[in-house]
Amino acid sequence: MLQVNLYQDEETGRKYYGPILCCDLCKKQITDLNLALYKWQNDERRNPVHGTFCVLHKGKCDEVHNQTYNAERWPWNEATTLLALLINNSQGKSEKSQDLWPHLVEHYCPDEQLEGVQQVAGRILKDPVNRPPSVNDLAV
Ligand SMILES: [Zn+2]
Repeated sequence: MLQVNLYQDEETGRKYYGPILCCDLCKKQITDLNLALYKWQNDERRNPVHGTFCVLHKGKCDEVHNQTYNAERWPWNEATTLLALLINNSQGKSEKSQDLWPHLVEHYCPDEQLEGVQQVAGRILKDPVNRPPSVNDLAV
């Protein structure tokens, strides 16, 4: 589940709100997306059932979920793909829509990761044929 926390900068005292992900089973914050996944329930025709989306810690929380529900009806994906897929699926098509990826990199990418972003972009532009599969290529 998505939640909003109130934080306070220790140096400036400035308060700000920040969205966080919490496990839908244990309710604890997910602090490393590499250690989480998301799931949704499919009906008998393999169509997603709205309102069943959940985020879980890998390991014990996922195991408990699998023991509680029919795991075959609950496809999953790595939580590390969640934000990218949301961005790609939420890009507007109107003239007023901005390109979200450049906006996000410009405003939210930590300085220490900008060089890595630049290297990936340069590599893709030089050799688009060998680009890794799209994050939208979720097997069905
Ligand atoms: Zn958990």
